[in-house]
Amino acid sequence: MKATPKILESIYCLICQLPPVNKWKMPNTAMIDFKVADKVFHDGEECYATYTFNGETDLHEILISREMNPNFTILLSSMLHEIIHMRRLNKSEDWHLHDAVFKKYAKEICENYGLERIGF
Ligand SMILES: [Zn+2]
Repeated sequence: MKATPKILESIYCLICQLPPVNKWKMPNTAMIDFKVADKVFHDGEECYATYTFNGETDLHEILISREMNPNFTILLSSMLHEIIHMRRLNKSEDWHLHDAVFKKYAKEICENYGLERIGF
């Protein structure tokens, strides 16, 4: 499956309907810019996806790498990973960190989805 903005939006909506994210107050899709690029970089290193928030427009952005997400399973984990960053921003936490709090949320997701890890 080739990732497209429409597919990202559909996966986001699905994730928001399922536990544990259905109990997290996630932003409406109108507040999110779903984007796809052949390659995605963070701090000069190629990565699966990035999440950013524009404080001026109040718009969230999820950018997914087409090359690094060649199938649905990887795409789903990348989306779940970026959704954790988004939740952390909404809770005014240090949203960009992969610290103990991030790992706690990741564990909750992995337990619900039967996944071993999401994104790292
Ligand atoms: Zn991350």
